[in-house]
Amino acid sequence: MVIGGDAAGMSAASQARRLKGPDELEIIAFERSRFTSYSACGIPYWVSGDVGHRDDLIARTPEEHRERAIDLRMRTEVTEIDVAGRRVRALDRESGDTYWTGFDKLVIATGARPVRPELPGIDAPGVHGVQTLGDGQALLDSLDAVDAGRRRRAVVVGAGYIGVEMAEAMLKRGFEVTVLNRGEQPMATLDPDMGRLVHDAMDGLGITTVNGASVTKILTGPDGRVSEVATDERTYPADVVVLGIGVEPEAELAREAGLTVGPHGGLLTDLAMRAVGHDNIWAGGDCVEVLDLVAGRTRHIALGTHANKHGQVIGSNVGGGYGTFPGVVGTAVSKVCDLEIARTGLREKDARAVGLRYVTATIESTQRAGYYPGAKPMTVKMIAEHRTGRLLGVQIVGREGAAKRVDVAAVALTAGMTVEQMTALDLGYAPPFSPVWDPVLVAARKTVAAVRGAGS
Ligand SMILES: Cc1cc2nc3c(=O)[nH]c(=O)nc-3n(C[C@H](O)[C@H](O)[C@H](O)COP(=O)(O)OP(=O)(O)OC[C@H]3O[C@@H](n4cnc5c(N)ncnc54)[C@H](O)[C@@H]3O)c2cc1C
Repeated sequence: MVIGGDAAGMSAASQARRLKGPDELEIIAFERSRFTSYSACGIPYWVSGDVGHRDDLIARTPEEHRERAIDLRMRTEVTEIDVAGRRVRALDRESGDTYWTGFDKLVIATGARPVRPELPGIDAPGVHGVQTLGDGQALLDSLDAVDAGRRRRAVVVGAGYIGVEMAEAMLKRGFEVTVLNRGEQPMATLDPDMGRLVHDAMDGLGITTVNGASVTKILTGPDGRVSEVATDERTYPADVVVLGIGVEPEAELAREAGLTVGPHGGLLTDLAMRAVGHDNIWAGGDCVEVLDLVAGRTRHIALGTHANKHGQVIGSNVGGGYGTFPGVVGTAVSKVCDLEIARTGLREKDARAVGLRYVTATIESTQRAGYYPGAKPMTVKMIAEHRTGRLLGVQIVGREGAAKRVDVAAVALTAGMTVEQMTALDLGYAPPFSPVWDPVLVAARKTVAAVRGAGS
């Protein structure tokens, strides 16, 4: 039995079905919304118009799941888990009926819920989250409702990766865009010196980013629709407001059933993705905490890449196979227009928080040979442990071809390499793809010098 019919839940169901046929394993999946198995990651690109149609984001329809003998019950919410009695209570949101049904093995994949502060005006027409396909459709309808013949203004609240991606989407839709960011710089998953580069590039794209801005209320016009966003400093005119303030694990249902949650509010699991202390319950995706292999602590990182892997592991174990999820190194990529942003491992403040001493080095390079057409600047920041030179983290900001370079660093982190070992990596080179010294190698060399220069 699966609770939650998106990335983690349906990956688990599909993988279990691959391993065991319907005669051996009955699979029931509950999904409270109208959509299943879709890419929320694609919502900013659908809203921007880069992706043509909502259905392009749907990987598998409910009918396709049912054809594979998965009893997917849409618009059905699980409202209670009875762990000892091995049953759940389901609410059919169409009919209002509730019923109990039993399980042998339970998979909890309830995802995350967006942070939505209780501000005056937050529920006004024209204020939108972008968590689900339904949210994306409501935002698109709202954009259409704003008269295209005049100046149109969008305010994006939050400057994490969803905030900056939505800023791009609004820009492409012809809106003037202001991003209100409570932090010191946009992209708080980067160190502030790298976030500053994102801020400046957004400025160059015509996106106004206001740092240190705390939204206090949302004001409405005579038609009841959003008209302005107020911070503690001033107000910003807005025809539409997009909220991208982050998410929290949706773990309340499981917590009420007695399952263990960690310091970040997510469910805790073992390496097989089994809920801690329960032999027949698994949990994965945005509702769990993951082990950060660099910091040696659990964190809550809501990413589809993890959710799909969790689902695969859970499905293997539920289906009688074997799988484990060892943890993450914290890799994430994003973009705003042509600016690519990437990070992996620890930021400076993360290293300090776990008591690590470190050195840093930052280099400027280009993603292609400097003489090759289209060569654009790229900045790489590298963090390594004091004395040992073990790689701790990498952040990259640049144009086309910059972001996915972080994968080299992710592999190096996973392998526990030192920056000295990284300098000898046999990375590919030809002028259209990189300078003869790849920027990652240049950064590694400079970091080696910093490690040596820092002495003992
Ligand atoms: C705008 C946006 C952009 C993103 N971009 C990226 C990206 O570029 N890269 C990346 O890696 N990740 C990205 N993500 C994150 C990614 O989409 C999520 O990490 C992923 O969807 C998590 O999958 P999940 O199955 O754990 O949770 P969800 O996708 O949230 O699915 C959980 C499902 O459970 C259902 N549910 C919850 N409680 C119940 C209940 N009690 N009963 C029945 N059903 C229930 C919910 O309706 C939901 O459908 C993005 C997310 C958003 C919103």
